[in-house]
Amino acid sequence: MSVNQQAHTGPPYGQPQPGYQGYQQPAYGGQSLPGVPQLQYGAYNGPMPGYQQPVPPQGYFPSLGFPSKGSPVSLNSDTSSLAPNFIGSLRAPPTSGAPPPASGASHPSGHLAYSQFEHGDVQNGIPASATPMQRPPASQPFLPGSAPTPVSQTSAFQQYGPPPASVQQLSNHMAGMTIGSATASAPPPAGLGYGPPTSVPPVSGSFSATGSGLYTPYSASQGPPPTSVSQGLPLAQPPFPGQTVSTQRLPTQVPGFAPPPPSTGVGPSSYPPTTGAPRPPAMPGPPLPGQTLAGPPSSQPNHVSSPPPPSAMSGLHPGPPMSGLQGPPPPTHPPQPGYQMQQNGSFGQVRGPQPNYGGAYPGTPNYGSPPGPPPPPKRLDPDSIPSPIQVIEDDRSNRGSEPFVTGVRGQVPPLVTTNFLVKDQGNASPRYIRCTSYNIPCTSDMAKQSQVPLAAVIKPLAALPPEETLPYLVDHGESGPVRCNRCKAYMCPFMQFIEGGRRFQCCFCSCVTEVPPHYFQHLDHTGKRVDFYDRPELSLGSYEFLATVDYCKNNKFPSPPAFIFMIDVSYNAVKSGLVRLICEELKSLLDYLPREGNMEESAIRVGFVTYNKVLHFYNVKSSLAQPQMMVVSDVADMFVPLLDGFLVNVNESRTVITSLLDQIPEMFADTRETETVFAPVIQAGLEALKAAECAGKLFIFHTSLPIAEAPGKLKNRDDRKLINTDKEKTLFQPQTSFYNNLAKDCVAQGCCVDLFLFPNQYLDVATLGVVPYQTGGSIYKYAYFQLETDQDRFLNDLRRDVQKEVGFDAVMRVRTSTGIRATDFFGAFYMSNTTDVEMAGLDCDKTITVEFKHDDKLSEDSGALLQCALLYTSCAGQRRLRIHNLSLNCCTQLADLYRNCETDTLINYLAKYAYRGVLSSPVKTVRDALVNQCAQILACYRKNCASPSSAGQLILPECMKLLPVYLNCVLKSDVLQPGPEVTTDDRAYIRQLVTSMDVAETNVFFYPRLLPLTKADVDSDSLPAAIRNSEERLSKGDIYLLENGLNIFVWVGVSVQQSLIQNLFGVSSFGQISNTLSALPVLENPFSKKVRSIVDMLQGQRSRYMKLIIVKQEDKLEMLFKHFLVEDKSLSGGASYVDFLCHMHKEIRQLLS
Ligand SMILES: [Zn+2]
Repeated sequence: MSVNQQAHTGPPYGQPQPGYQGYQQPAYGGQSLPGVPQLQYGAYNGPMPGYQQPVPPQGYFPSLGFPSKGSPVSLNSDTSSLAPNFIGSLRAPPTSGAPPPASGASHPSGHLAYSQFEHGDVQNGIPASATPMQRPPASQPFLPGSAPTPVSQTSAFQQYGPPPASVQQLSNHMAGMTIGSATASAPPPAGLGYGPPTSVPPVSGSFSATGSGLYTPYSASQGPPPTSVSQGLPLAQPPFPGQTVSTQRLPTQVPGFAPPPPSTGVGPSSYPPTTGAPRPPAMPGPPLPGQTLAGPPSSQPNHVSSPPPPSAMSGLHPGPPMSGLQGPPPPTHPPQPGYQMQQNGSFGQVRGPQPNYGGAYPGTPNYGSPPGPPPPPKRLDPDSIPSPIQVIEDDRSNRGSEPFVTGVRGQVPPLVTTNFLVKDQGNASPRYIRCTSYNIPCTSDMAKQSQVPLAAVIKPLAALPPEETLPYLVDHGESGPVRCNRCKAYMCPFMQFIEGGRRFQCCFCSCVTEVPPHYFQHLDHTGKRVDFYDRPELSLGSYEFLATVDYCKNNKFPSPPAFIFMIDVSYNAVKSGLVRLICEELKSLLDYLPREGNMEESAIRVGFVTYNKVLHFYNVKSSLAQPQMMVVSDVADMFVPLLDGFLVNVNESRTVITSLLDQIPEMFADTRETETVFAPVIQAGLEALKAAECAGKLFIFHTSLPIAEAPGKLKNRDDRKLINTDKEKTLFQPQTSFYNNLAKDCVAQGCCVDLFLFPNQYLDVATLGVVPYQTGGSIYKYAYFQLETDQDRFLNDLRRDVQKEVGFDAVMRVRTSTGIRATDFFGAFYMSNTTDVEMAGLDCDKTITVEFKHDDKLSEDSGALLQCALLYTSCAGQRRLRIHNLSLNCCTQLADLYRNCETDTLINYLAKYAYRGVLSSPVKTVRDALVNQCAQILACYRKNCASPSSAGQLILPECMKLLPVYLNCVLKSDVLQPGPEVTTDDRAYIRQLVTSMDVAETNVFFYPRLLPLTKADVDSDSLPAAIRNSEERLSKGDIYLLENGLNIFVWVGVSVQQSLIQNLFGVSSFGQISNTLSALPVLENPFSKKVRSIVDMLQGQRSRYMKLIIVKQEDKLEMLFKHFLVEDKSLSGGASYVDFLCHMHKEIRQLLS
């Protein structure tokens, strides 16, 4: 008998069985509420007997049966059992009309499980997940918390005016330049530094396009009125790191800048690029993913700013960057009074009404710049340009205290860096969906004119903080979810019931559909169903439906998924201690597999394989006294030599599994085999899942380039000479299409691959990563893995990866209201058609970015709607649909678009777009395109939204004032501008990683968080205020922490007090601090505790355990650290923030002239 057969028969998991009736879903995902055993969502689940919903066949139909089990084969030999052709098309081509099942996402169950694991160990997980998410008992009304008052819930959204201008900014005076101009004419709404003192209030009201200034509470920095920051960028000399810019401000600066002052200590010369940075003992690995040590400036035409070292200049065009960039300094305005006193970090932005803006200020003539006498050029003060820190702090103080209630259309949420609670009142939480703009141009022409990409960053299975409610699970019984007859959109708060409730009109396609008898309900006097608040799908933005068998592959409910652990046991893996480490860890980790609801044990079965040039399968059937190994040496046509006993229940086979894990390290202790295969390993896992007729995940622990003779064999084709050539793109492309085909087969089976790499040299991440990437899996890389320093990081990653919430065999479709449609997708998935995103696995950290384009006009009245539907199989084998809905405003005025943008999301999109672009275009082309697009975005604003002002002024939309600084970070990233120390594998790794990142991750990845630890208040839980990423902000008497989601650096200044060193490192002097520490020593004093708690907290916020690196000022490793001081010029040629801003200004002026 084969394993698979057993699998389906047993309903042990309480999962829906074929003939399921009125399936009551026990506790919905994840939470383990012992006390609340079966939550029945009575209110909305009752399946209505009798009613058969005409569910359109979904895209899943059973195409070929599962080729399942091959006949058991004999060990060592042979071959063939499953012809490759079987693989493949399990899923029928999606029928066009019938929307494929929306697929789902992941879930709750994961959360729970996660929390059960020793908390201490889970620190790397998302904090939220650490606490059990509890789903309110069924009886609980759906209006979580905030009793949605009917008012806010009405489907007719109230239009809300953008919230008032952000007050916070008011205080800032812009750095001198702009102020002047701004002040002058504008009836300024809230202007900061200028004229009218703080007139905040007016702004919001006035600007709201639609009038009701009702929604003021959320005003904050976003959405607000057009703020344009105006700043005159004079051309000035870019400050260099290390110098205090402020003091250098030269009031009168001339266009041609003076040559940049020699940067102190930053020059390339100081850091011989060659220092083996990549593997200093301290850093076992090469720099970290993503990071580059700066190298000689590469030729980057666009924004080079200071005179690069001669050597680097080859490709640059603009000569001395500075001067070139800024042409003659536009006459700028005389410094305004406020000019001298700039406040730290505040950019003088003035937010005021824009001329064209909705007529609110009809005659506002020159808002921004009073024509003043051209001021003498001045040096650009770094404190005068938009500060990310200031923006983040302002948003926190303005929006962090109140919950974000989603009942209003087109509301811009708080920034990802702000802690806030979300109350779902009809639109999906920003934790699930964030948009580049919450106000979409009504026409395609407007959209093209602005060049602002319209995109949504969707994280369907996002983990939520414990205070928020997980999506409710709605069970409509055998009839399944109610959907529009034409477009197949799922019932949602925006559907309009008509004819007394007998029919509903689709909010996406306008088609009218009969309400199924079992779903009928009367309407109240406002036209709303009287059960509105009792049904999540009518009142909430996010919820889940239990899927019927029609949504299942082969019309059969799925079996619970399986996890297969596949361990490389070649020489390097054994010698480094890795094999033993993995086996030891699995013994305990297997007790923490994801489980659903109140299930006592996980439904996931496990299997084990080890390999080098051949594969070893293990029979761990519970009835065996000892595990049995079966070797398959013919890897040319992989098959699984055993079916029964390969995938087992952990508890039933615990003794045998433990014995196996004890034996593996011993069995291979003396191996001399250095070669490995790779593709056959994936094929073996795939075949095993096929045989078991289930979806699942392969955890592959691999160490080297697979050069052994086998399918998918690779050669070392690394060639750094290709950098900056037209062939550079080949470094990011797989060297063979073999893996693409394999990935396709894996997706068809729901076989997700998570790959843990431990390379000591090039192993071609670009190729090995294809399957993990296309199956929705993850890649982790530990270069030069050393037990002592990397063990904790690897184990934390592994624990989190194994336990996290994950959905399988997922298909996601995004529907939109007429007028726009999803046209492009970015992320880790596979697409077999143009609309459905398929993922063999989708976990709570994976994000899909979707771009939209117009295909018709939109109307301001109806706005635009998005519905993301994810069909997936939960960790217990339950088929579900997770639905997220979001309503956006539409505008006819460009100013409305610019006022409702979100730069962090825009950067997420642009980075992914660029990172995909390097696969097909020269990197330089990609960088130039990014700069050009952003210049067009800002030029369009300047031309159409800002009031006329001097060309010498750079005026930035309030919501996009950080676009230049963040864009520069993307341009300087290792993928687009690598330093000499960045390896080809690092670049490929980062490229794939960023592609699945959410907005919070891209935000901190591109603009790291820098905290002065010595300023931390040891008596409070708060973090010290972050500072800008520039060397000139560092004091040699302090200790700082910098994190970017992958690494945490602790930088120690040379003059730090001896007592602080003693307290933090336990040594008596700076010289004794070891830079090879991978963790801070545990010392019993307030400072040590505080710092360690900060580190733990940060680790808990990220999806991966960050590598801790101690950097001593003036030490060799400091070069690596400086690479992350992204406002400074980088050694690899990246421009400083100031220089780049000047460059953007020049680009914008060219577009306007
Ligand atoms: Zn429809």
